[in-house]
Amino acid sequence: MAGELPRLSPEEALRYSRHLILPNVELEGQRRLKAARILVVGAGGLGSPVALYLAAAGVGTLGLVDFDVVDVTNLQRQLLHGTADVGRPKVDSATDRIRDANPHVHVEPYRTRLTSRNALEIMRDYDLVVDGTDNFATRYLTNDACVLLGKPNVYGSIFRFEGQASVFAAADGPCYRCLGPDPPPPGEVPSCAEGGVLGVLPGMIGTIQAAEAIKLVLGVGSTLVGRLLLVNALDMQFHTMRLRRDPACPACGTRTITELIDYDEFCGTPGGVPPADPDAVAEIVPTELARRLREGPPLELIDVREPGEWEVAHIEGARLVPLGQLQGSLPTFDGSREIVVMCRSGQRSAAAVRRLQAAGFRRVRNLAGGILRWSEEVDPSVPRY
Ligand SMILES: [Zn+2]
Repeated sequence: MAGELPRLSPEEALRYSRHLILPNVELEGQRRLKAARILVVGAGGLGSPVALYLAAAGVGTLGLVDFDVVDVTNLQRQLLHGTADVGRPKVDSATDRIRDANPHVHVEPYRTRLTSRNALEIMRDYDLVVDGTDNFATRYLTNDACVLLGKPNVYGSIFRFEGQASVFAAADGPCYRCLGPDPPPPGEVPSCAEGGVLGVLPGMIGTIQAAEAIKLVLGVGSTLVGRLLLVNALDMQFHTMRLRRDPACPACGTRTITELIDYDEFCGTPGGVPPADPDAVAEIVPTELARRLREGPPLELIDVREPGEWEVAHIEGARLVPLGQLQGSLPTFDGSREIVVMCRSGQRSAAAVRRLQAAGFRRVRNLAGGILRWSEEVDPSVPRY
């Protein structure tokens, strides 16, 4: 095996000297790293430390999948990108940054969204995949593709002050579907864009993912296969939970999933072909709401976001009732008035409308497009975030 591994040039041997003297890595381990091909899905908060540390460590080939461009709100945590990169494709600024970190690394950028159509083709040539995605659809897609291809999936996810990491789809371990066969209903779990995230948290979780990826390449130590690491940065608590492979798991157990499905439809998220949605809620567009507010009759305006979001932007006359407090606040709602519910983009408020309807409120509508669309179409003085 060692004979087939690539040699290190004198420059590389010098650059990696702290690895070469390190037990469990040494010359052969460094050559393994040089031979390794690792795909990082997402060049954002998690992908930044993952790609930077894997590049610095001397992983020979790094694939990077991301369709997005750098936004100024990314810079609070996504260290692959700098202020001068705002507006550039993330894979471009990431490639430049990685080449500067280590010119010996070959970067393969894929400026695309990972989809059911391209995932197997992109992943096929890599040894392992690091999941740095920020949504359930791509997470299930990454997991299922890794199970089908038999490649380890180094998982991480973050929200507010909490993060998780594990290694899924390894030879004897569970997969992401063993942990949760069904995604949460859309709108129930806010994204980082809607719920916020501590800037340093993806650094903590992504660095753990990079360490797991390197150990998998080297074949040393104990990885997170069969364990879920839970990190709470607010209380600085680390816990691990045992995970078992679920024999009924449709991906890695019964293997009833033999090809990739439509994950947007599976997760009920927009992006794919919109399914006929029996849960679709009645909506009001921002311009119509503005007219109703001017001309009456009076409305009950409920904002279901979090207090920190309210501080950034809110609509005059609305009342803040965070989604988590909705149930307890129902007795305070005026059922004789029409209720309009809003959030940042309209996802969480749609979930709130369903709950209000289930509680017996008849005249409830969702503000289409949320405060973002209100800012675009009615009142540009309301900040967009
Ligand atoms: Zn499974």
